[in-house]
Amino acid sequence: MKEYHAILDYSCNLTILTSMIRGFAGGVHPVELKFTEDHPIEVVPFPKRVVIPFSQHIGKPAKPVVQVNDEVKIGTMIGEADGFVSSPVHASISGKVVKIDMFPHPVLGSSLGCMIESTNGEEWEQGVKEKYDYEKLSVKELVGLIQNAGIVGLGGAAFPTHVKLSPPENKPIETLIINGCECEPMLTADHRLMLEYPIGIIEGARLFQKIVGARTLVFAVEDNKKDAADILRREGVTVQVLKTKYPQGAEKQLIKTIMNREVPRGGLPMDVGCLVHNVGTCYAAFQAVQFRKPLIDRVMTMTGDGIKEAKNLLVRIGTPAIDVINFCGGYTGTPRVIISGGPMMGIAQCSENVPVIKGTSGIIVREKLHIEKEGPCVRCSACVDVCPMGLMPTDIYKYIAGKKFDKAKEYGVLDCIECGCCAYVCPARIPLVHYLKYGKSEVWRRSKK
Ligand code: SF4
Ligand code: SF4
Repeated sequence: MKEYHAILDYSCNLTILTSMIRGFAGGVHPVELKFTEDHPIEVVPFPKRVVIPFSQHIGKPAKPVVQVNDEVKIGTMIGEADGFVSSPVHASISGKVVKIDMFPHPVLGSSLGCMIESTNGEEWEQGVKEKYDYEKLSVKELVGLIQNAGIVGLGGAAFPTHVKLSPPENKPIETLIINGCECEPMLTADHRLMLEYPIGIIEGARLFQKIVGARTLVFAVEDNKKDAADILRREGVTVQVLKTKYPQGAEKQLIKTIMNREVPRGGLPMDVGCLVHNVGTCYAAFQAVQFRKPLIDRVMTMTGDGIKEAKNLLVRIGTPAIDVINFCGGYTGTPRVIISGGPMMGIAQCSENVPVIKGTSGIIVREKLHIEKEGPCVRCSACVDVCPMGLMPTDIYKYIAGKKFDKAKEYGVLDCIECGCCAYVCPARIPLVHYLKYGKSEVWRRSKK
């Protein structure tokens, strides 16, 4: 398929637009390939076996609170939060714990997880899925419900939501931005969620607004999803339709576009009076508060030229990727690569048994893959032009390749948001984002020492 190559083989035949008016600088316009935007969300049947990692979020991994042979129901807590910047994890099927061990992990490579085998159908934990009146709950109670349900950012970062909802008193939140941009090509999960569950998303957003006391609530939607923007508007919320441009959905870039404010280097959105939450996170938080439902499933997109039927799916956390692939009719041929996430920021997997976790926004299977050899830098500065963080990837990668990590830090490697724009445009096919990711982890490791 020609289009796949256009985007995924880092073709240089693209249009690079630098925002000259309002909006963030840099960025790229990859071919969208959102083939599944008209496909309603389908429910993947609950699997016979799940593997639920104790680390699915930024912060300390959850601590196991179950043992082998324990019986669990859907929604039973199997790992408790280990501190404030941590998040609990819950059983997504009912059955028996058969193993607690190291398992493949889509982000970490491998990590401690809990394998549960289904034995007794669909039995929910007591009290979950009943409808609760939450109007009179205090801010503290609402945050507690969101925290206990293991809600984390579903846009990909998986930062514990209760932490973002607890800014210090000296950092008041004036504007709450709900991120419905879904700027990664090929992914359409957030788009479908906005079309199919707008009220749940809006209720979740209003909960967040109440919790942080934001004066303004605004939804941000790219102009390739005008139908979603129309539906949200009809439900009475303010929607800003933004020009489609990658990475529009990144927090700092979104704040620049909507508020024309720059989050300072090393700072957070709260430093400029803003808070950004993804539409999926709003919906999950709403379910946590109204139905006491922990985060045991999520909507994701399965797509790519290596899969028979691309779909948007509601999938239980811990479901092996191969189960989801089989639900989509299986492979078209011999898969060359399985990517967890979108084509720009996703991570290639070494196993088809890797589980869907809270941060899995999509899985891409590719059959045709043309890998070009890395060549020498030709000093064209394309990577500098498109970097939305104003970095100089060409210099930073050379420092990293030469193990000069202090220089890489001085040149701002820690500000890299790993968007992949630089690698996308590089005519020398230098895997710049891989160098920068490695450089960031080395700088962190050395500073911890
Ligand atoms: S991956 Fe990092 S260096 Fe490359 S364009 Fe994105 S922010 Fe800039
Ligand atoms: S790293 Fe690639 S994009 Fe950047 S200046 Fe060199 S050749 Fe150009």
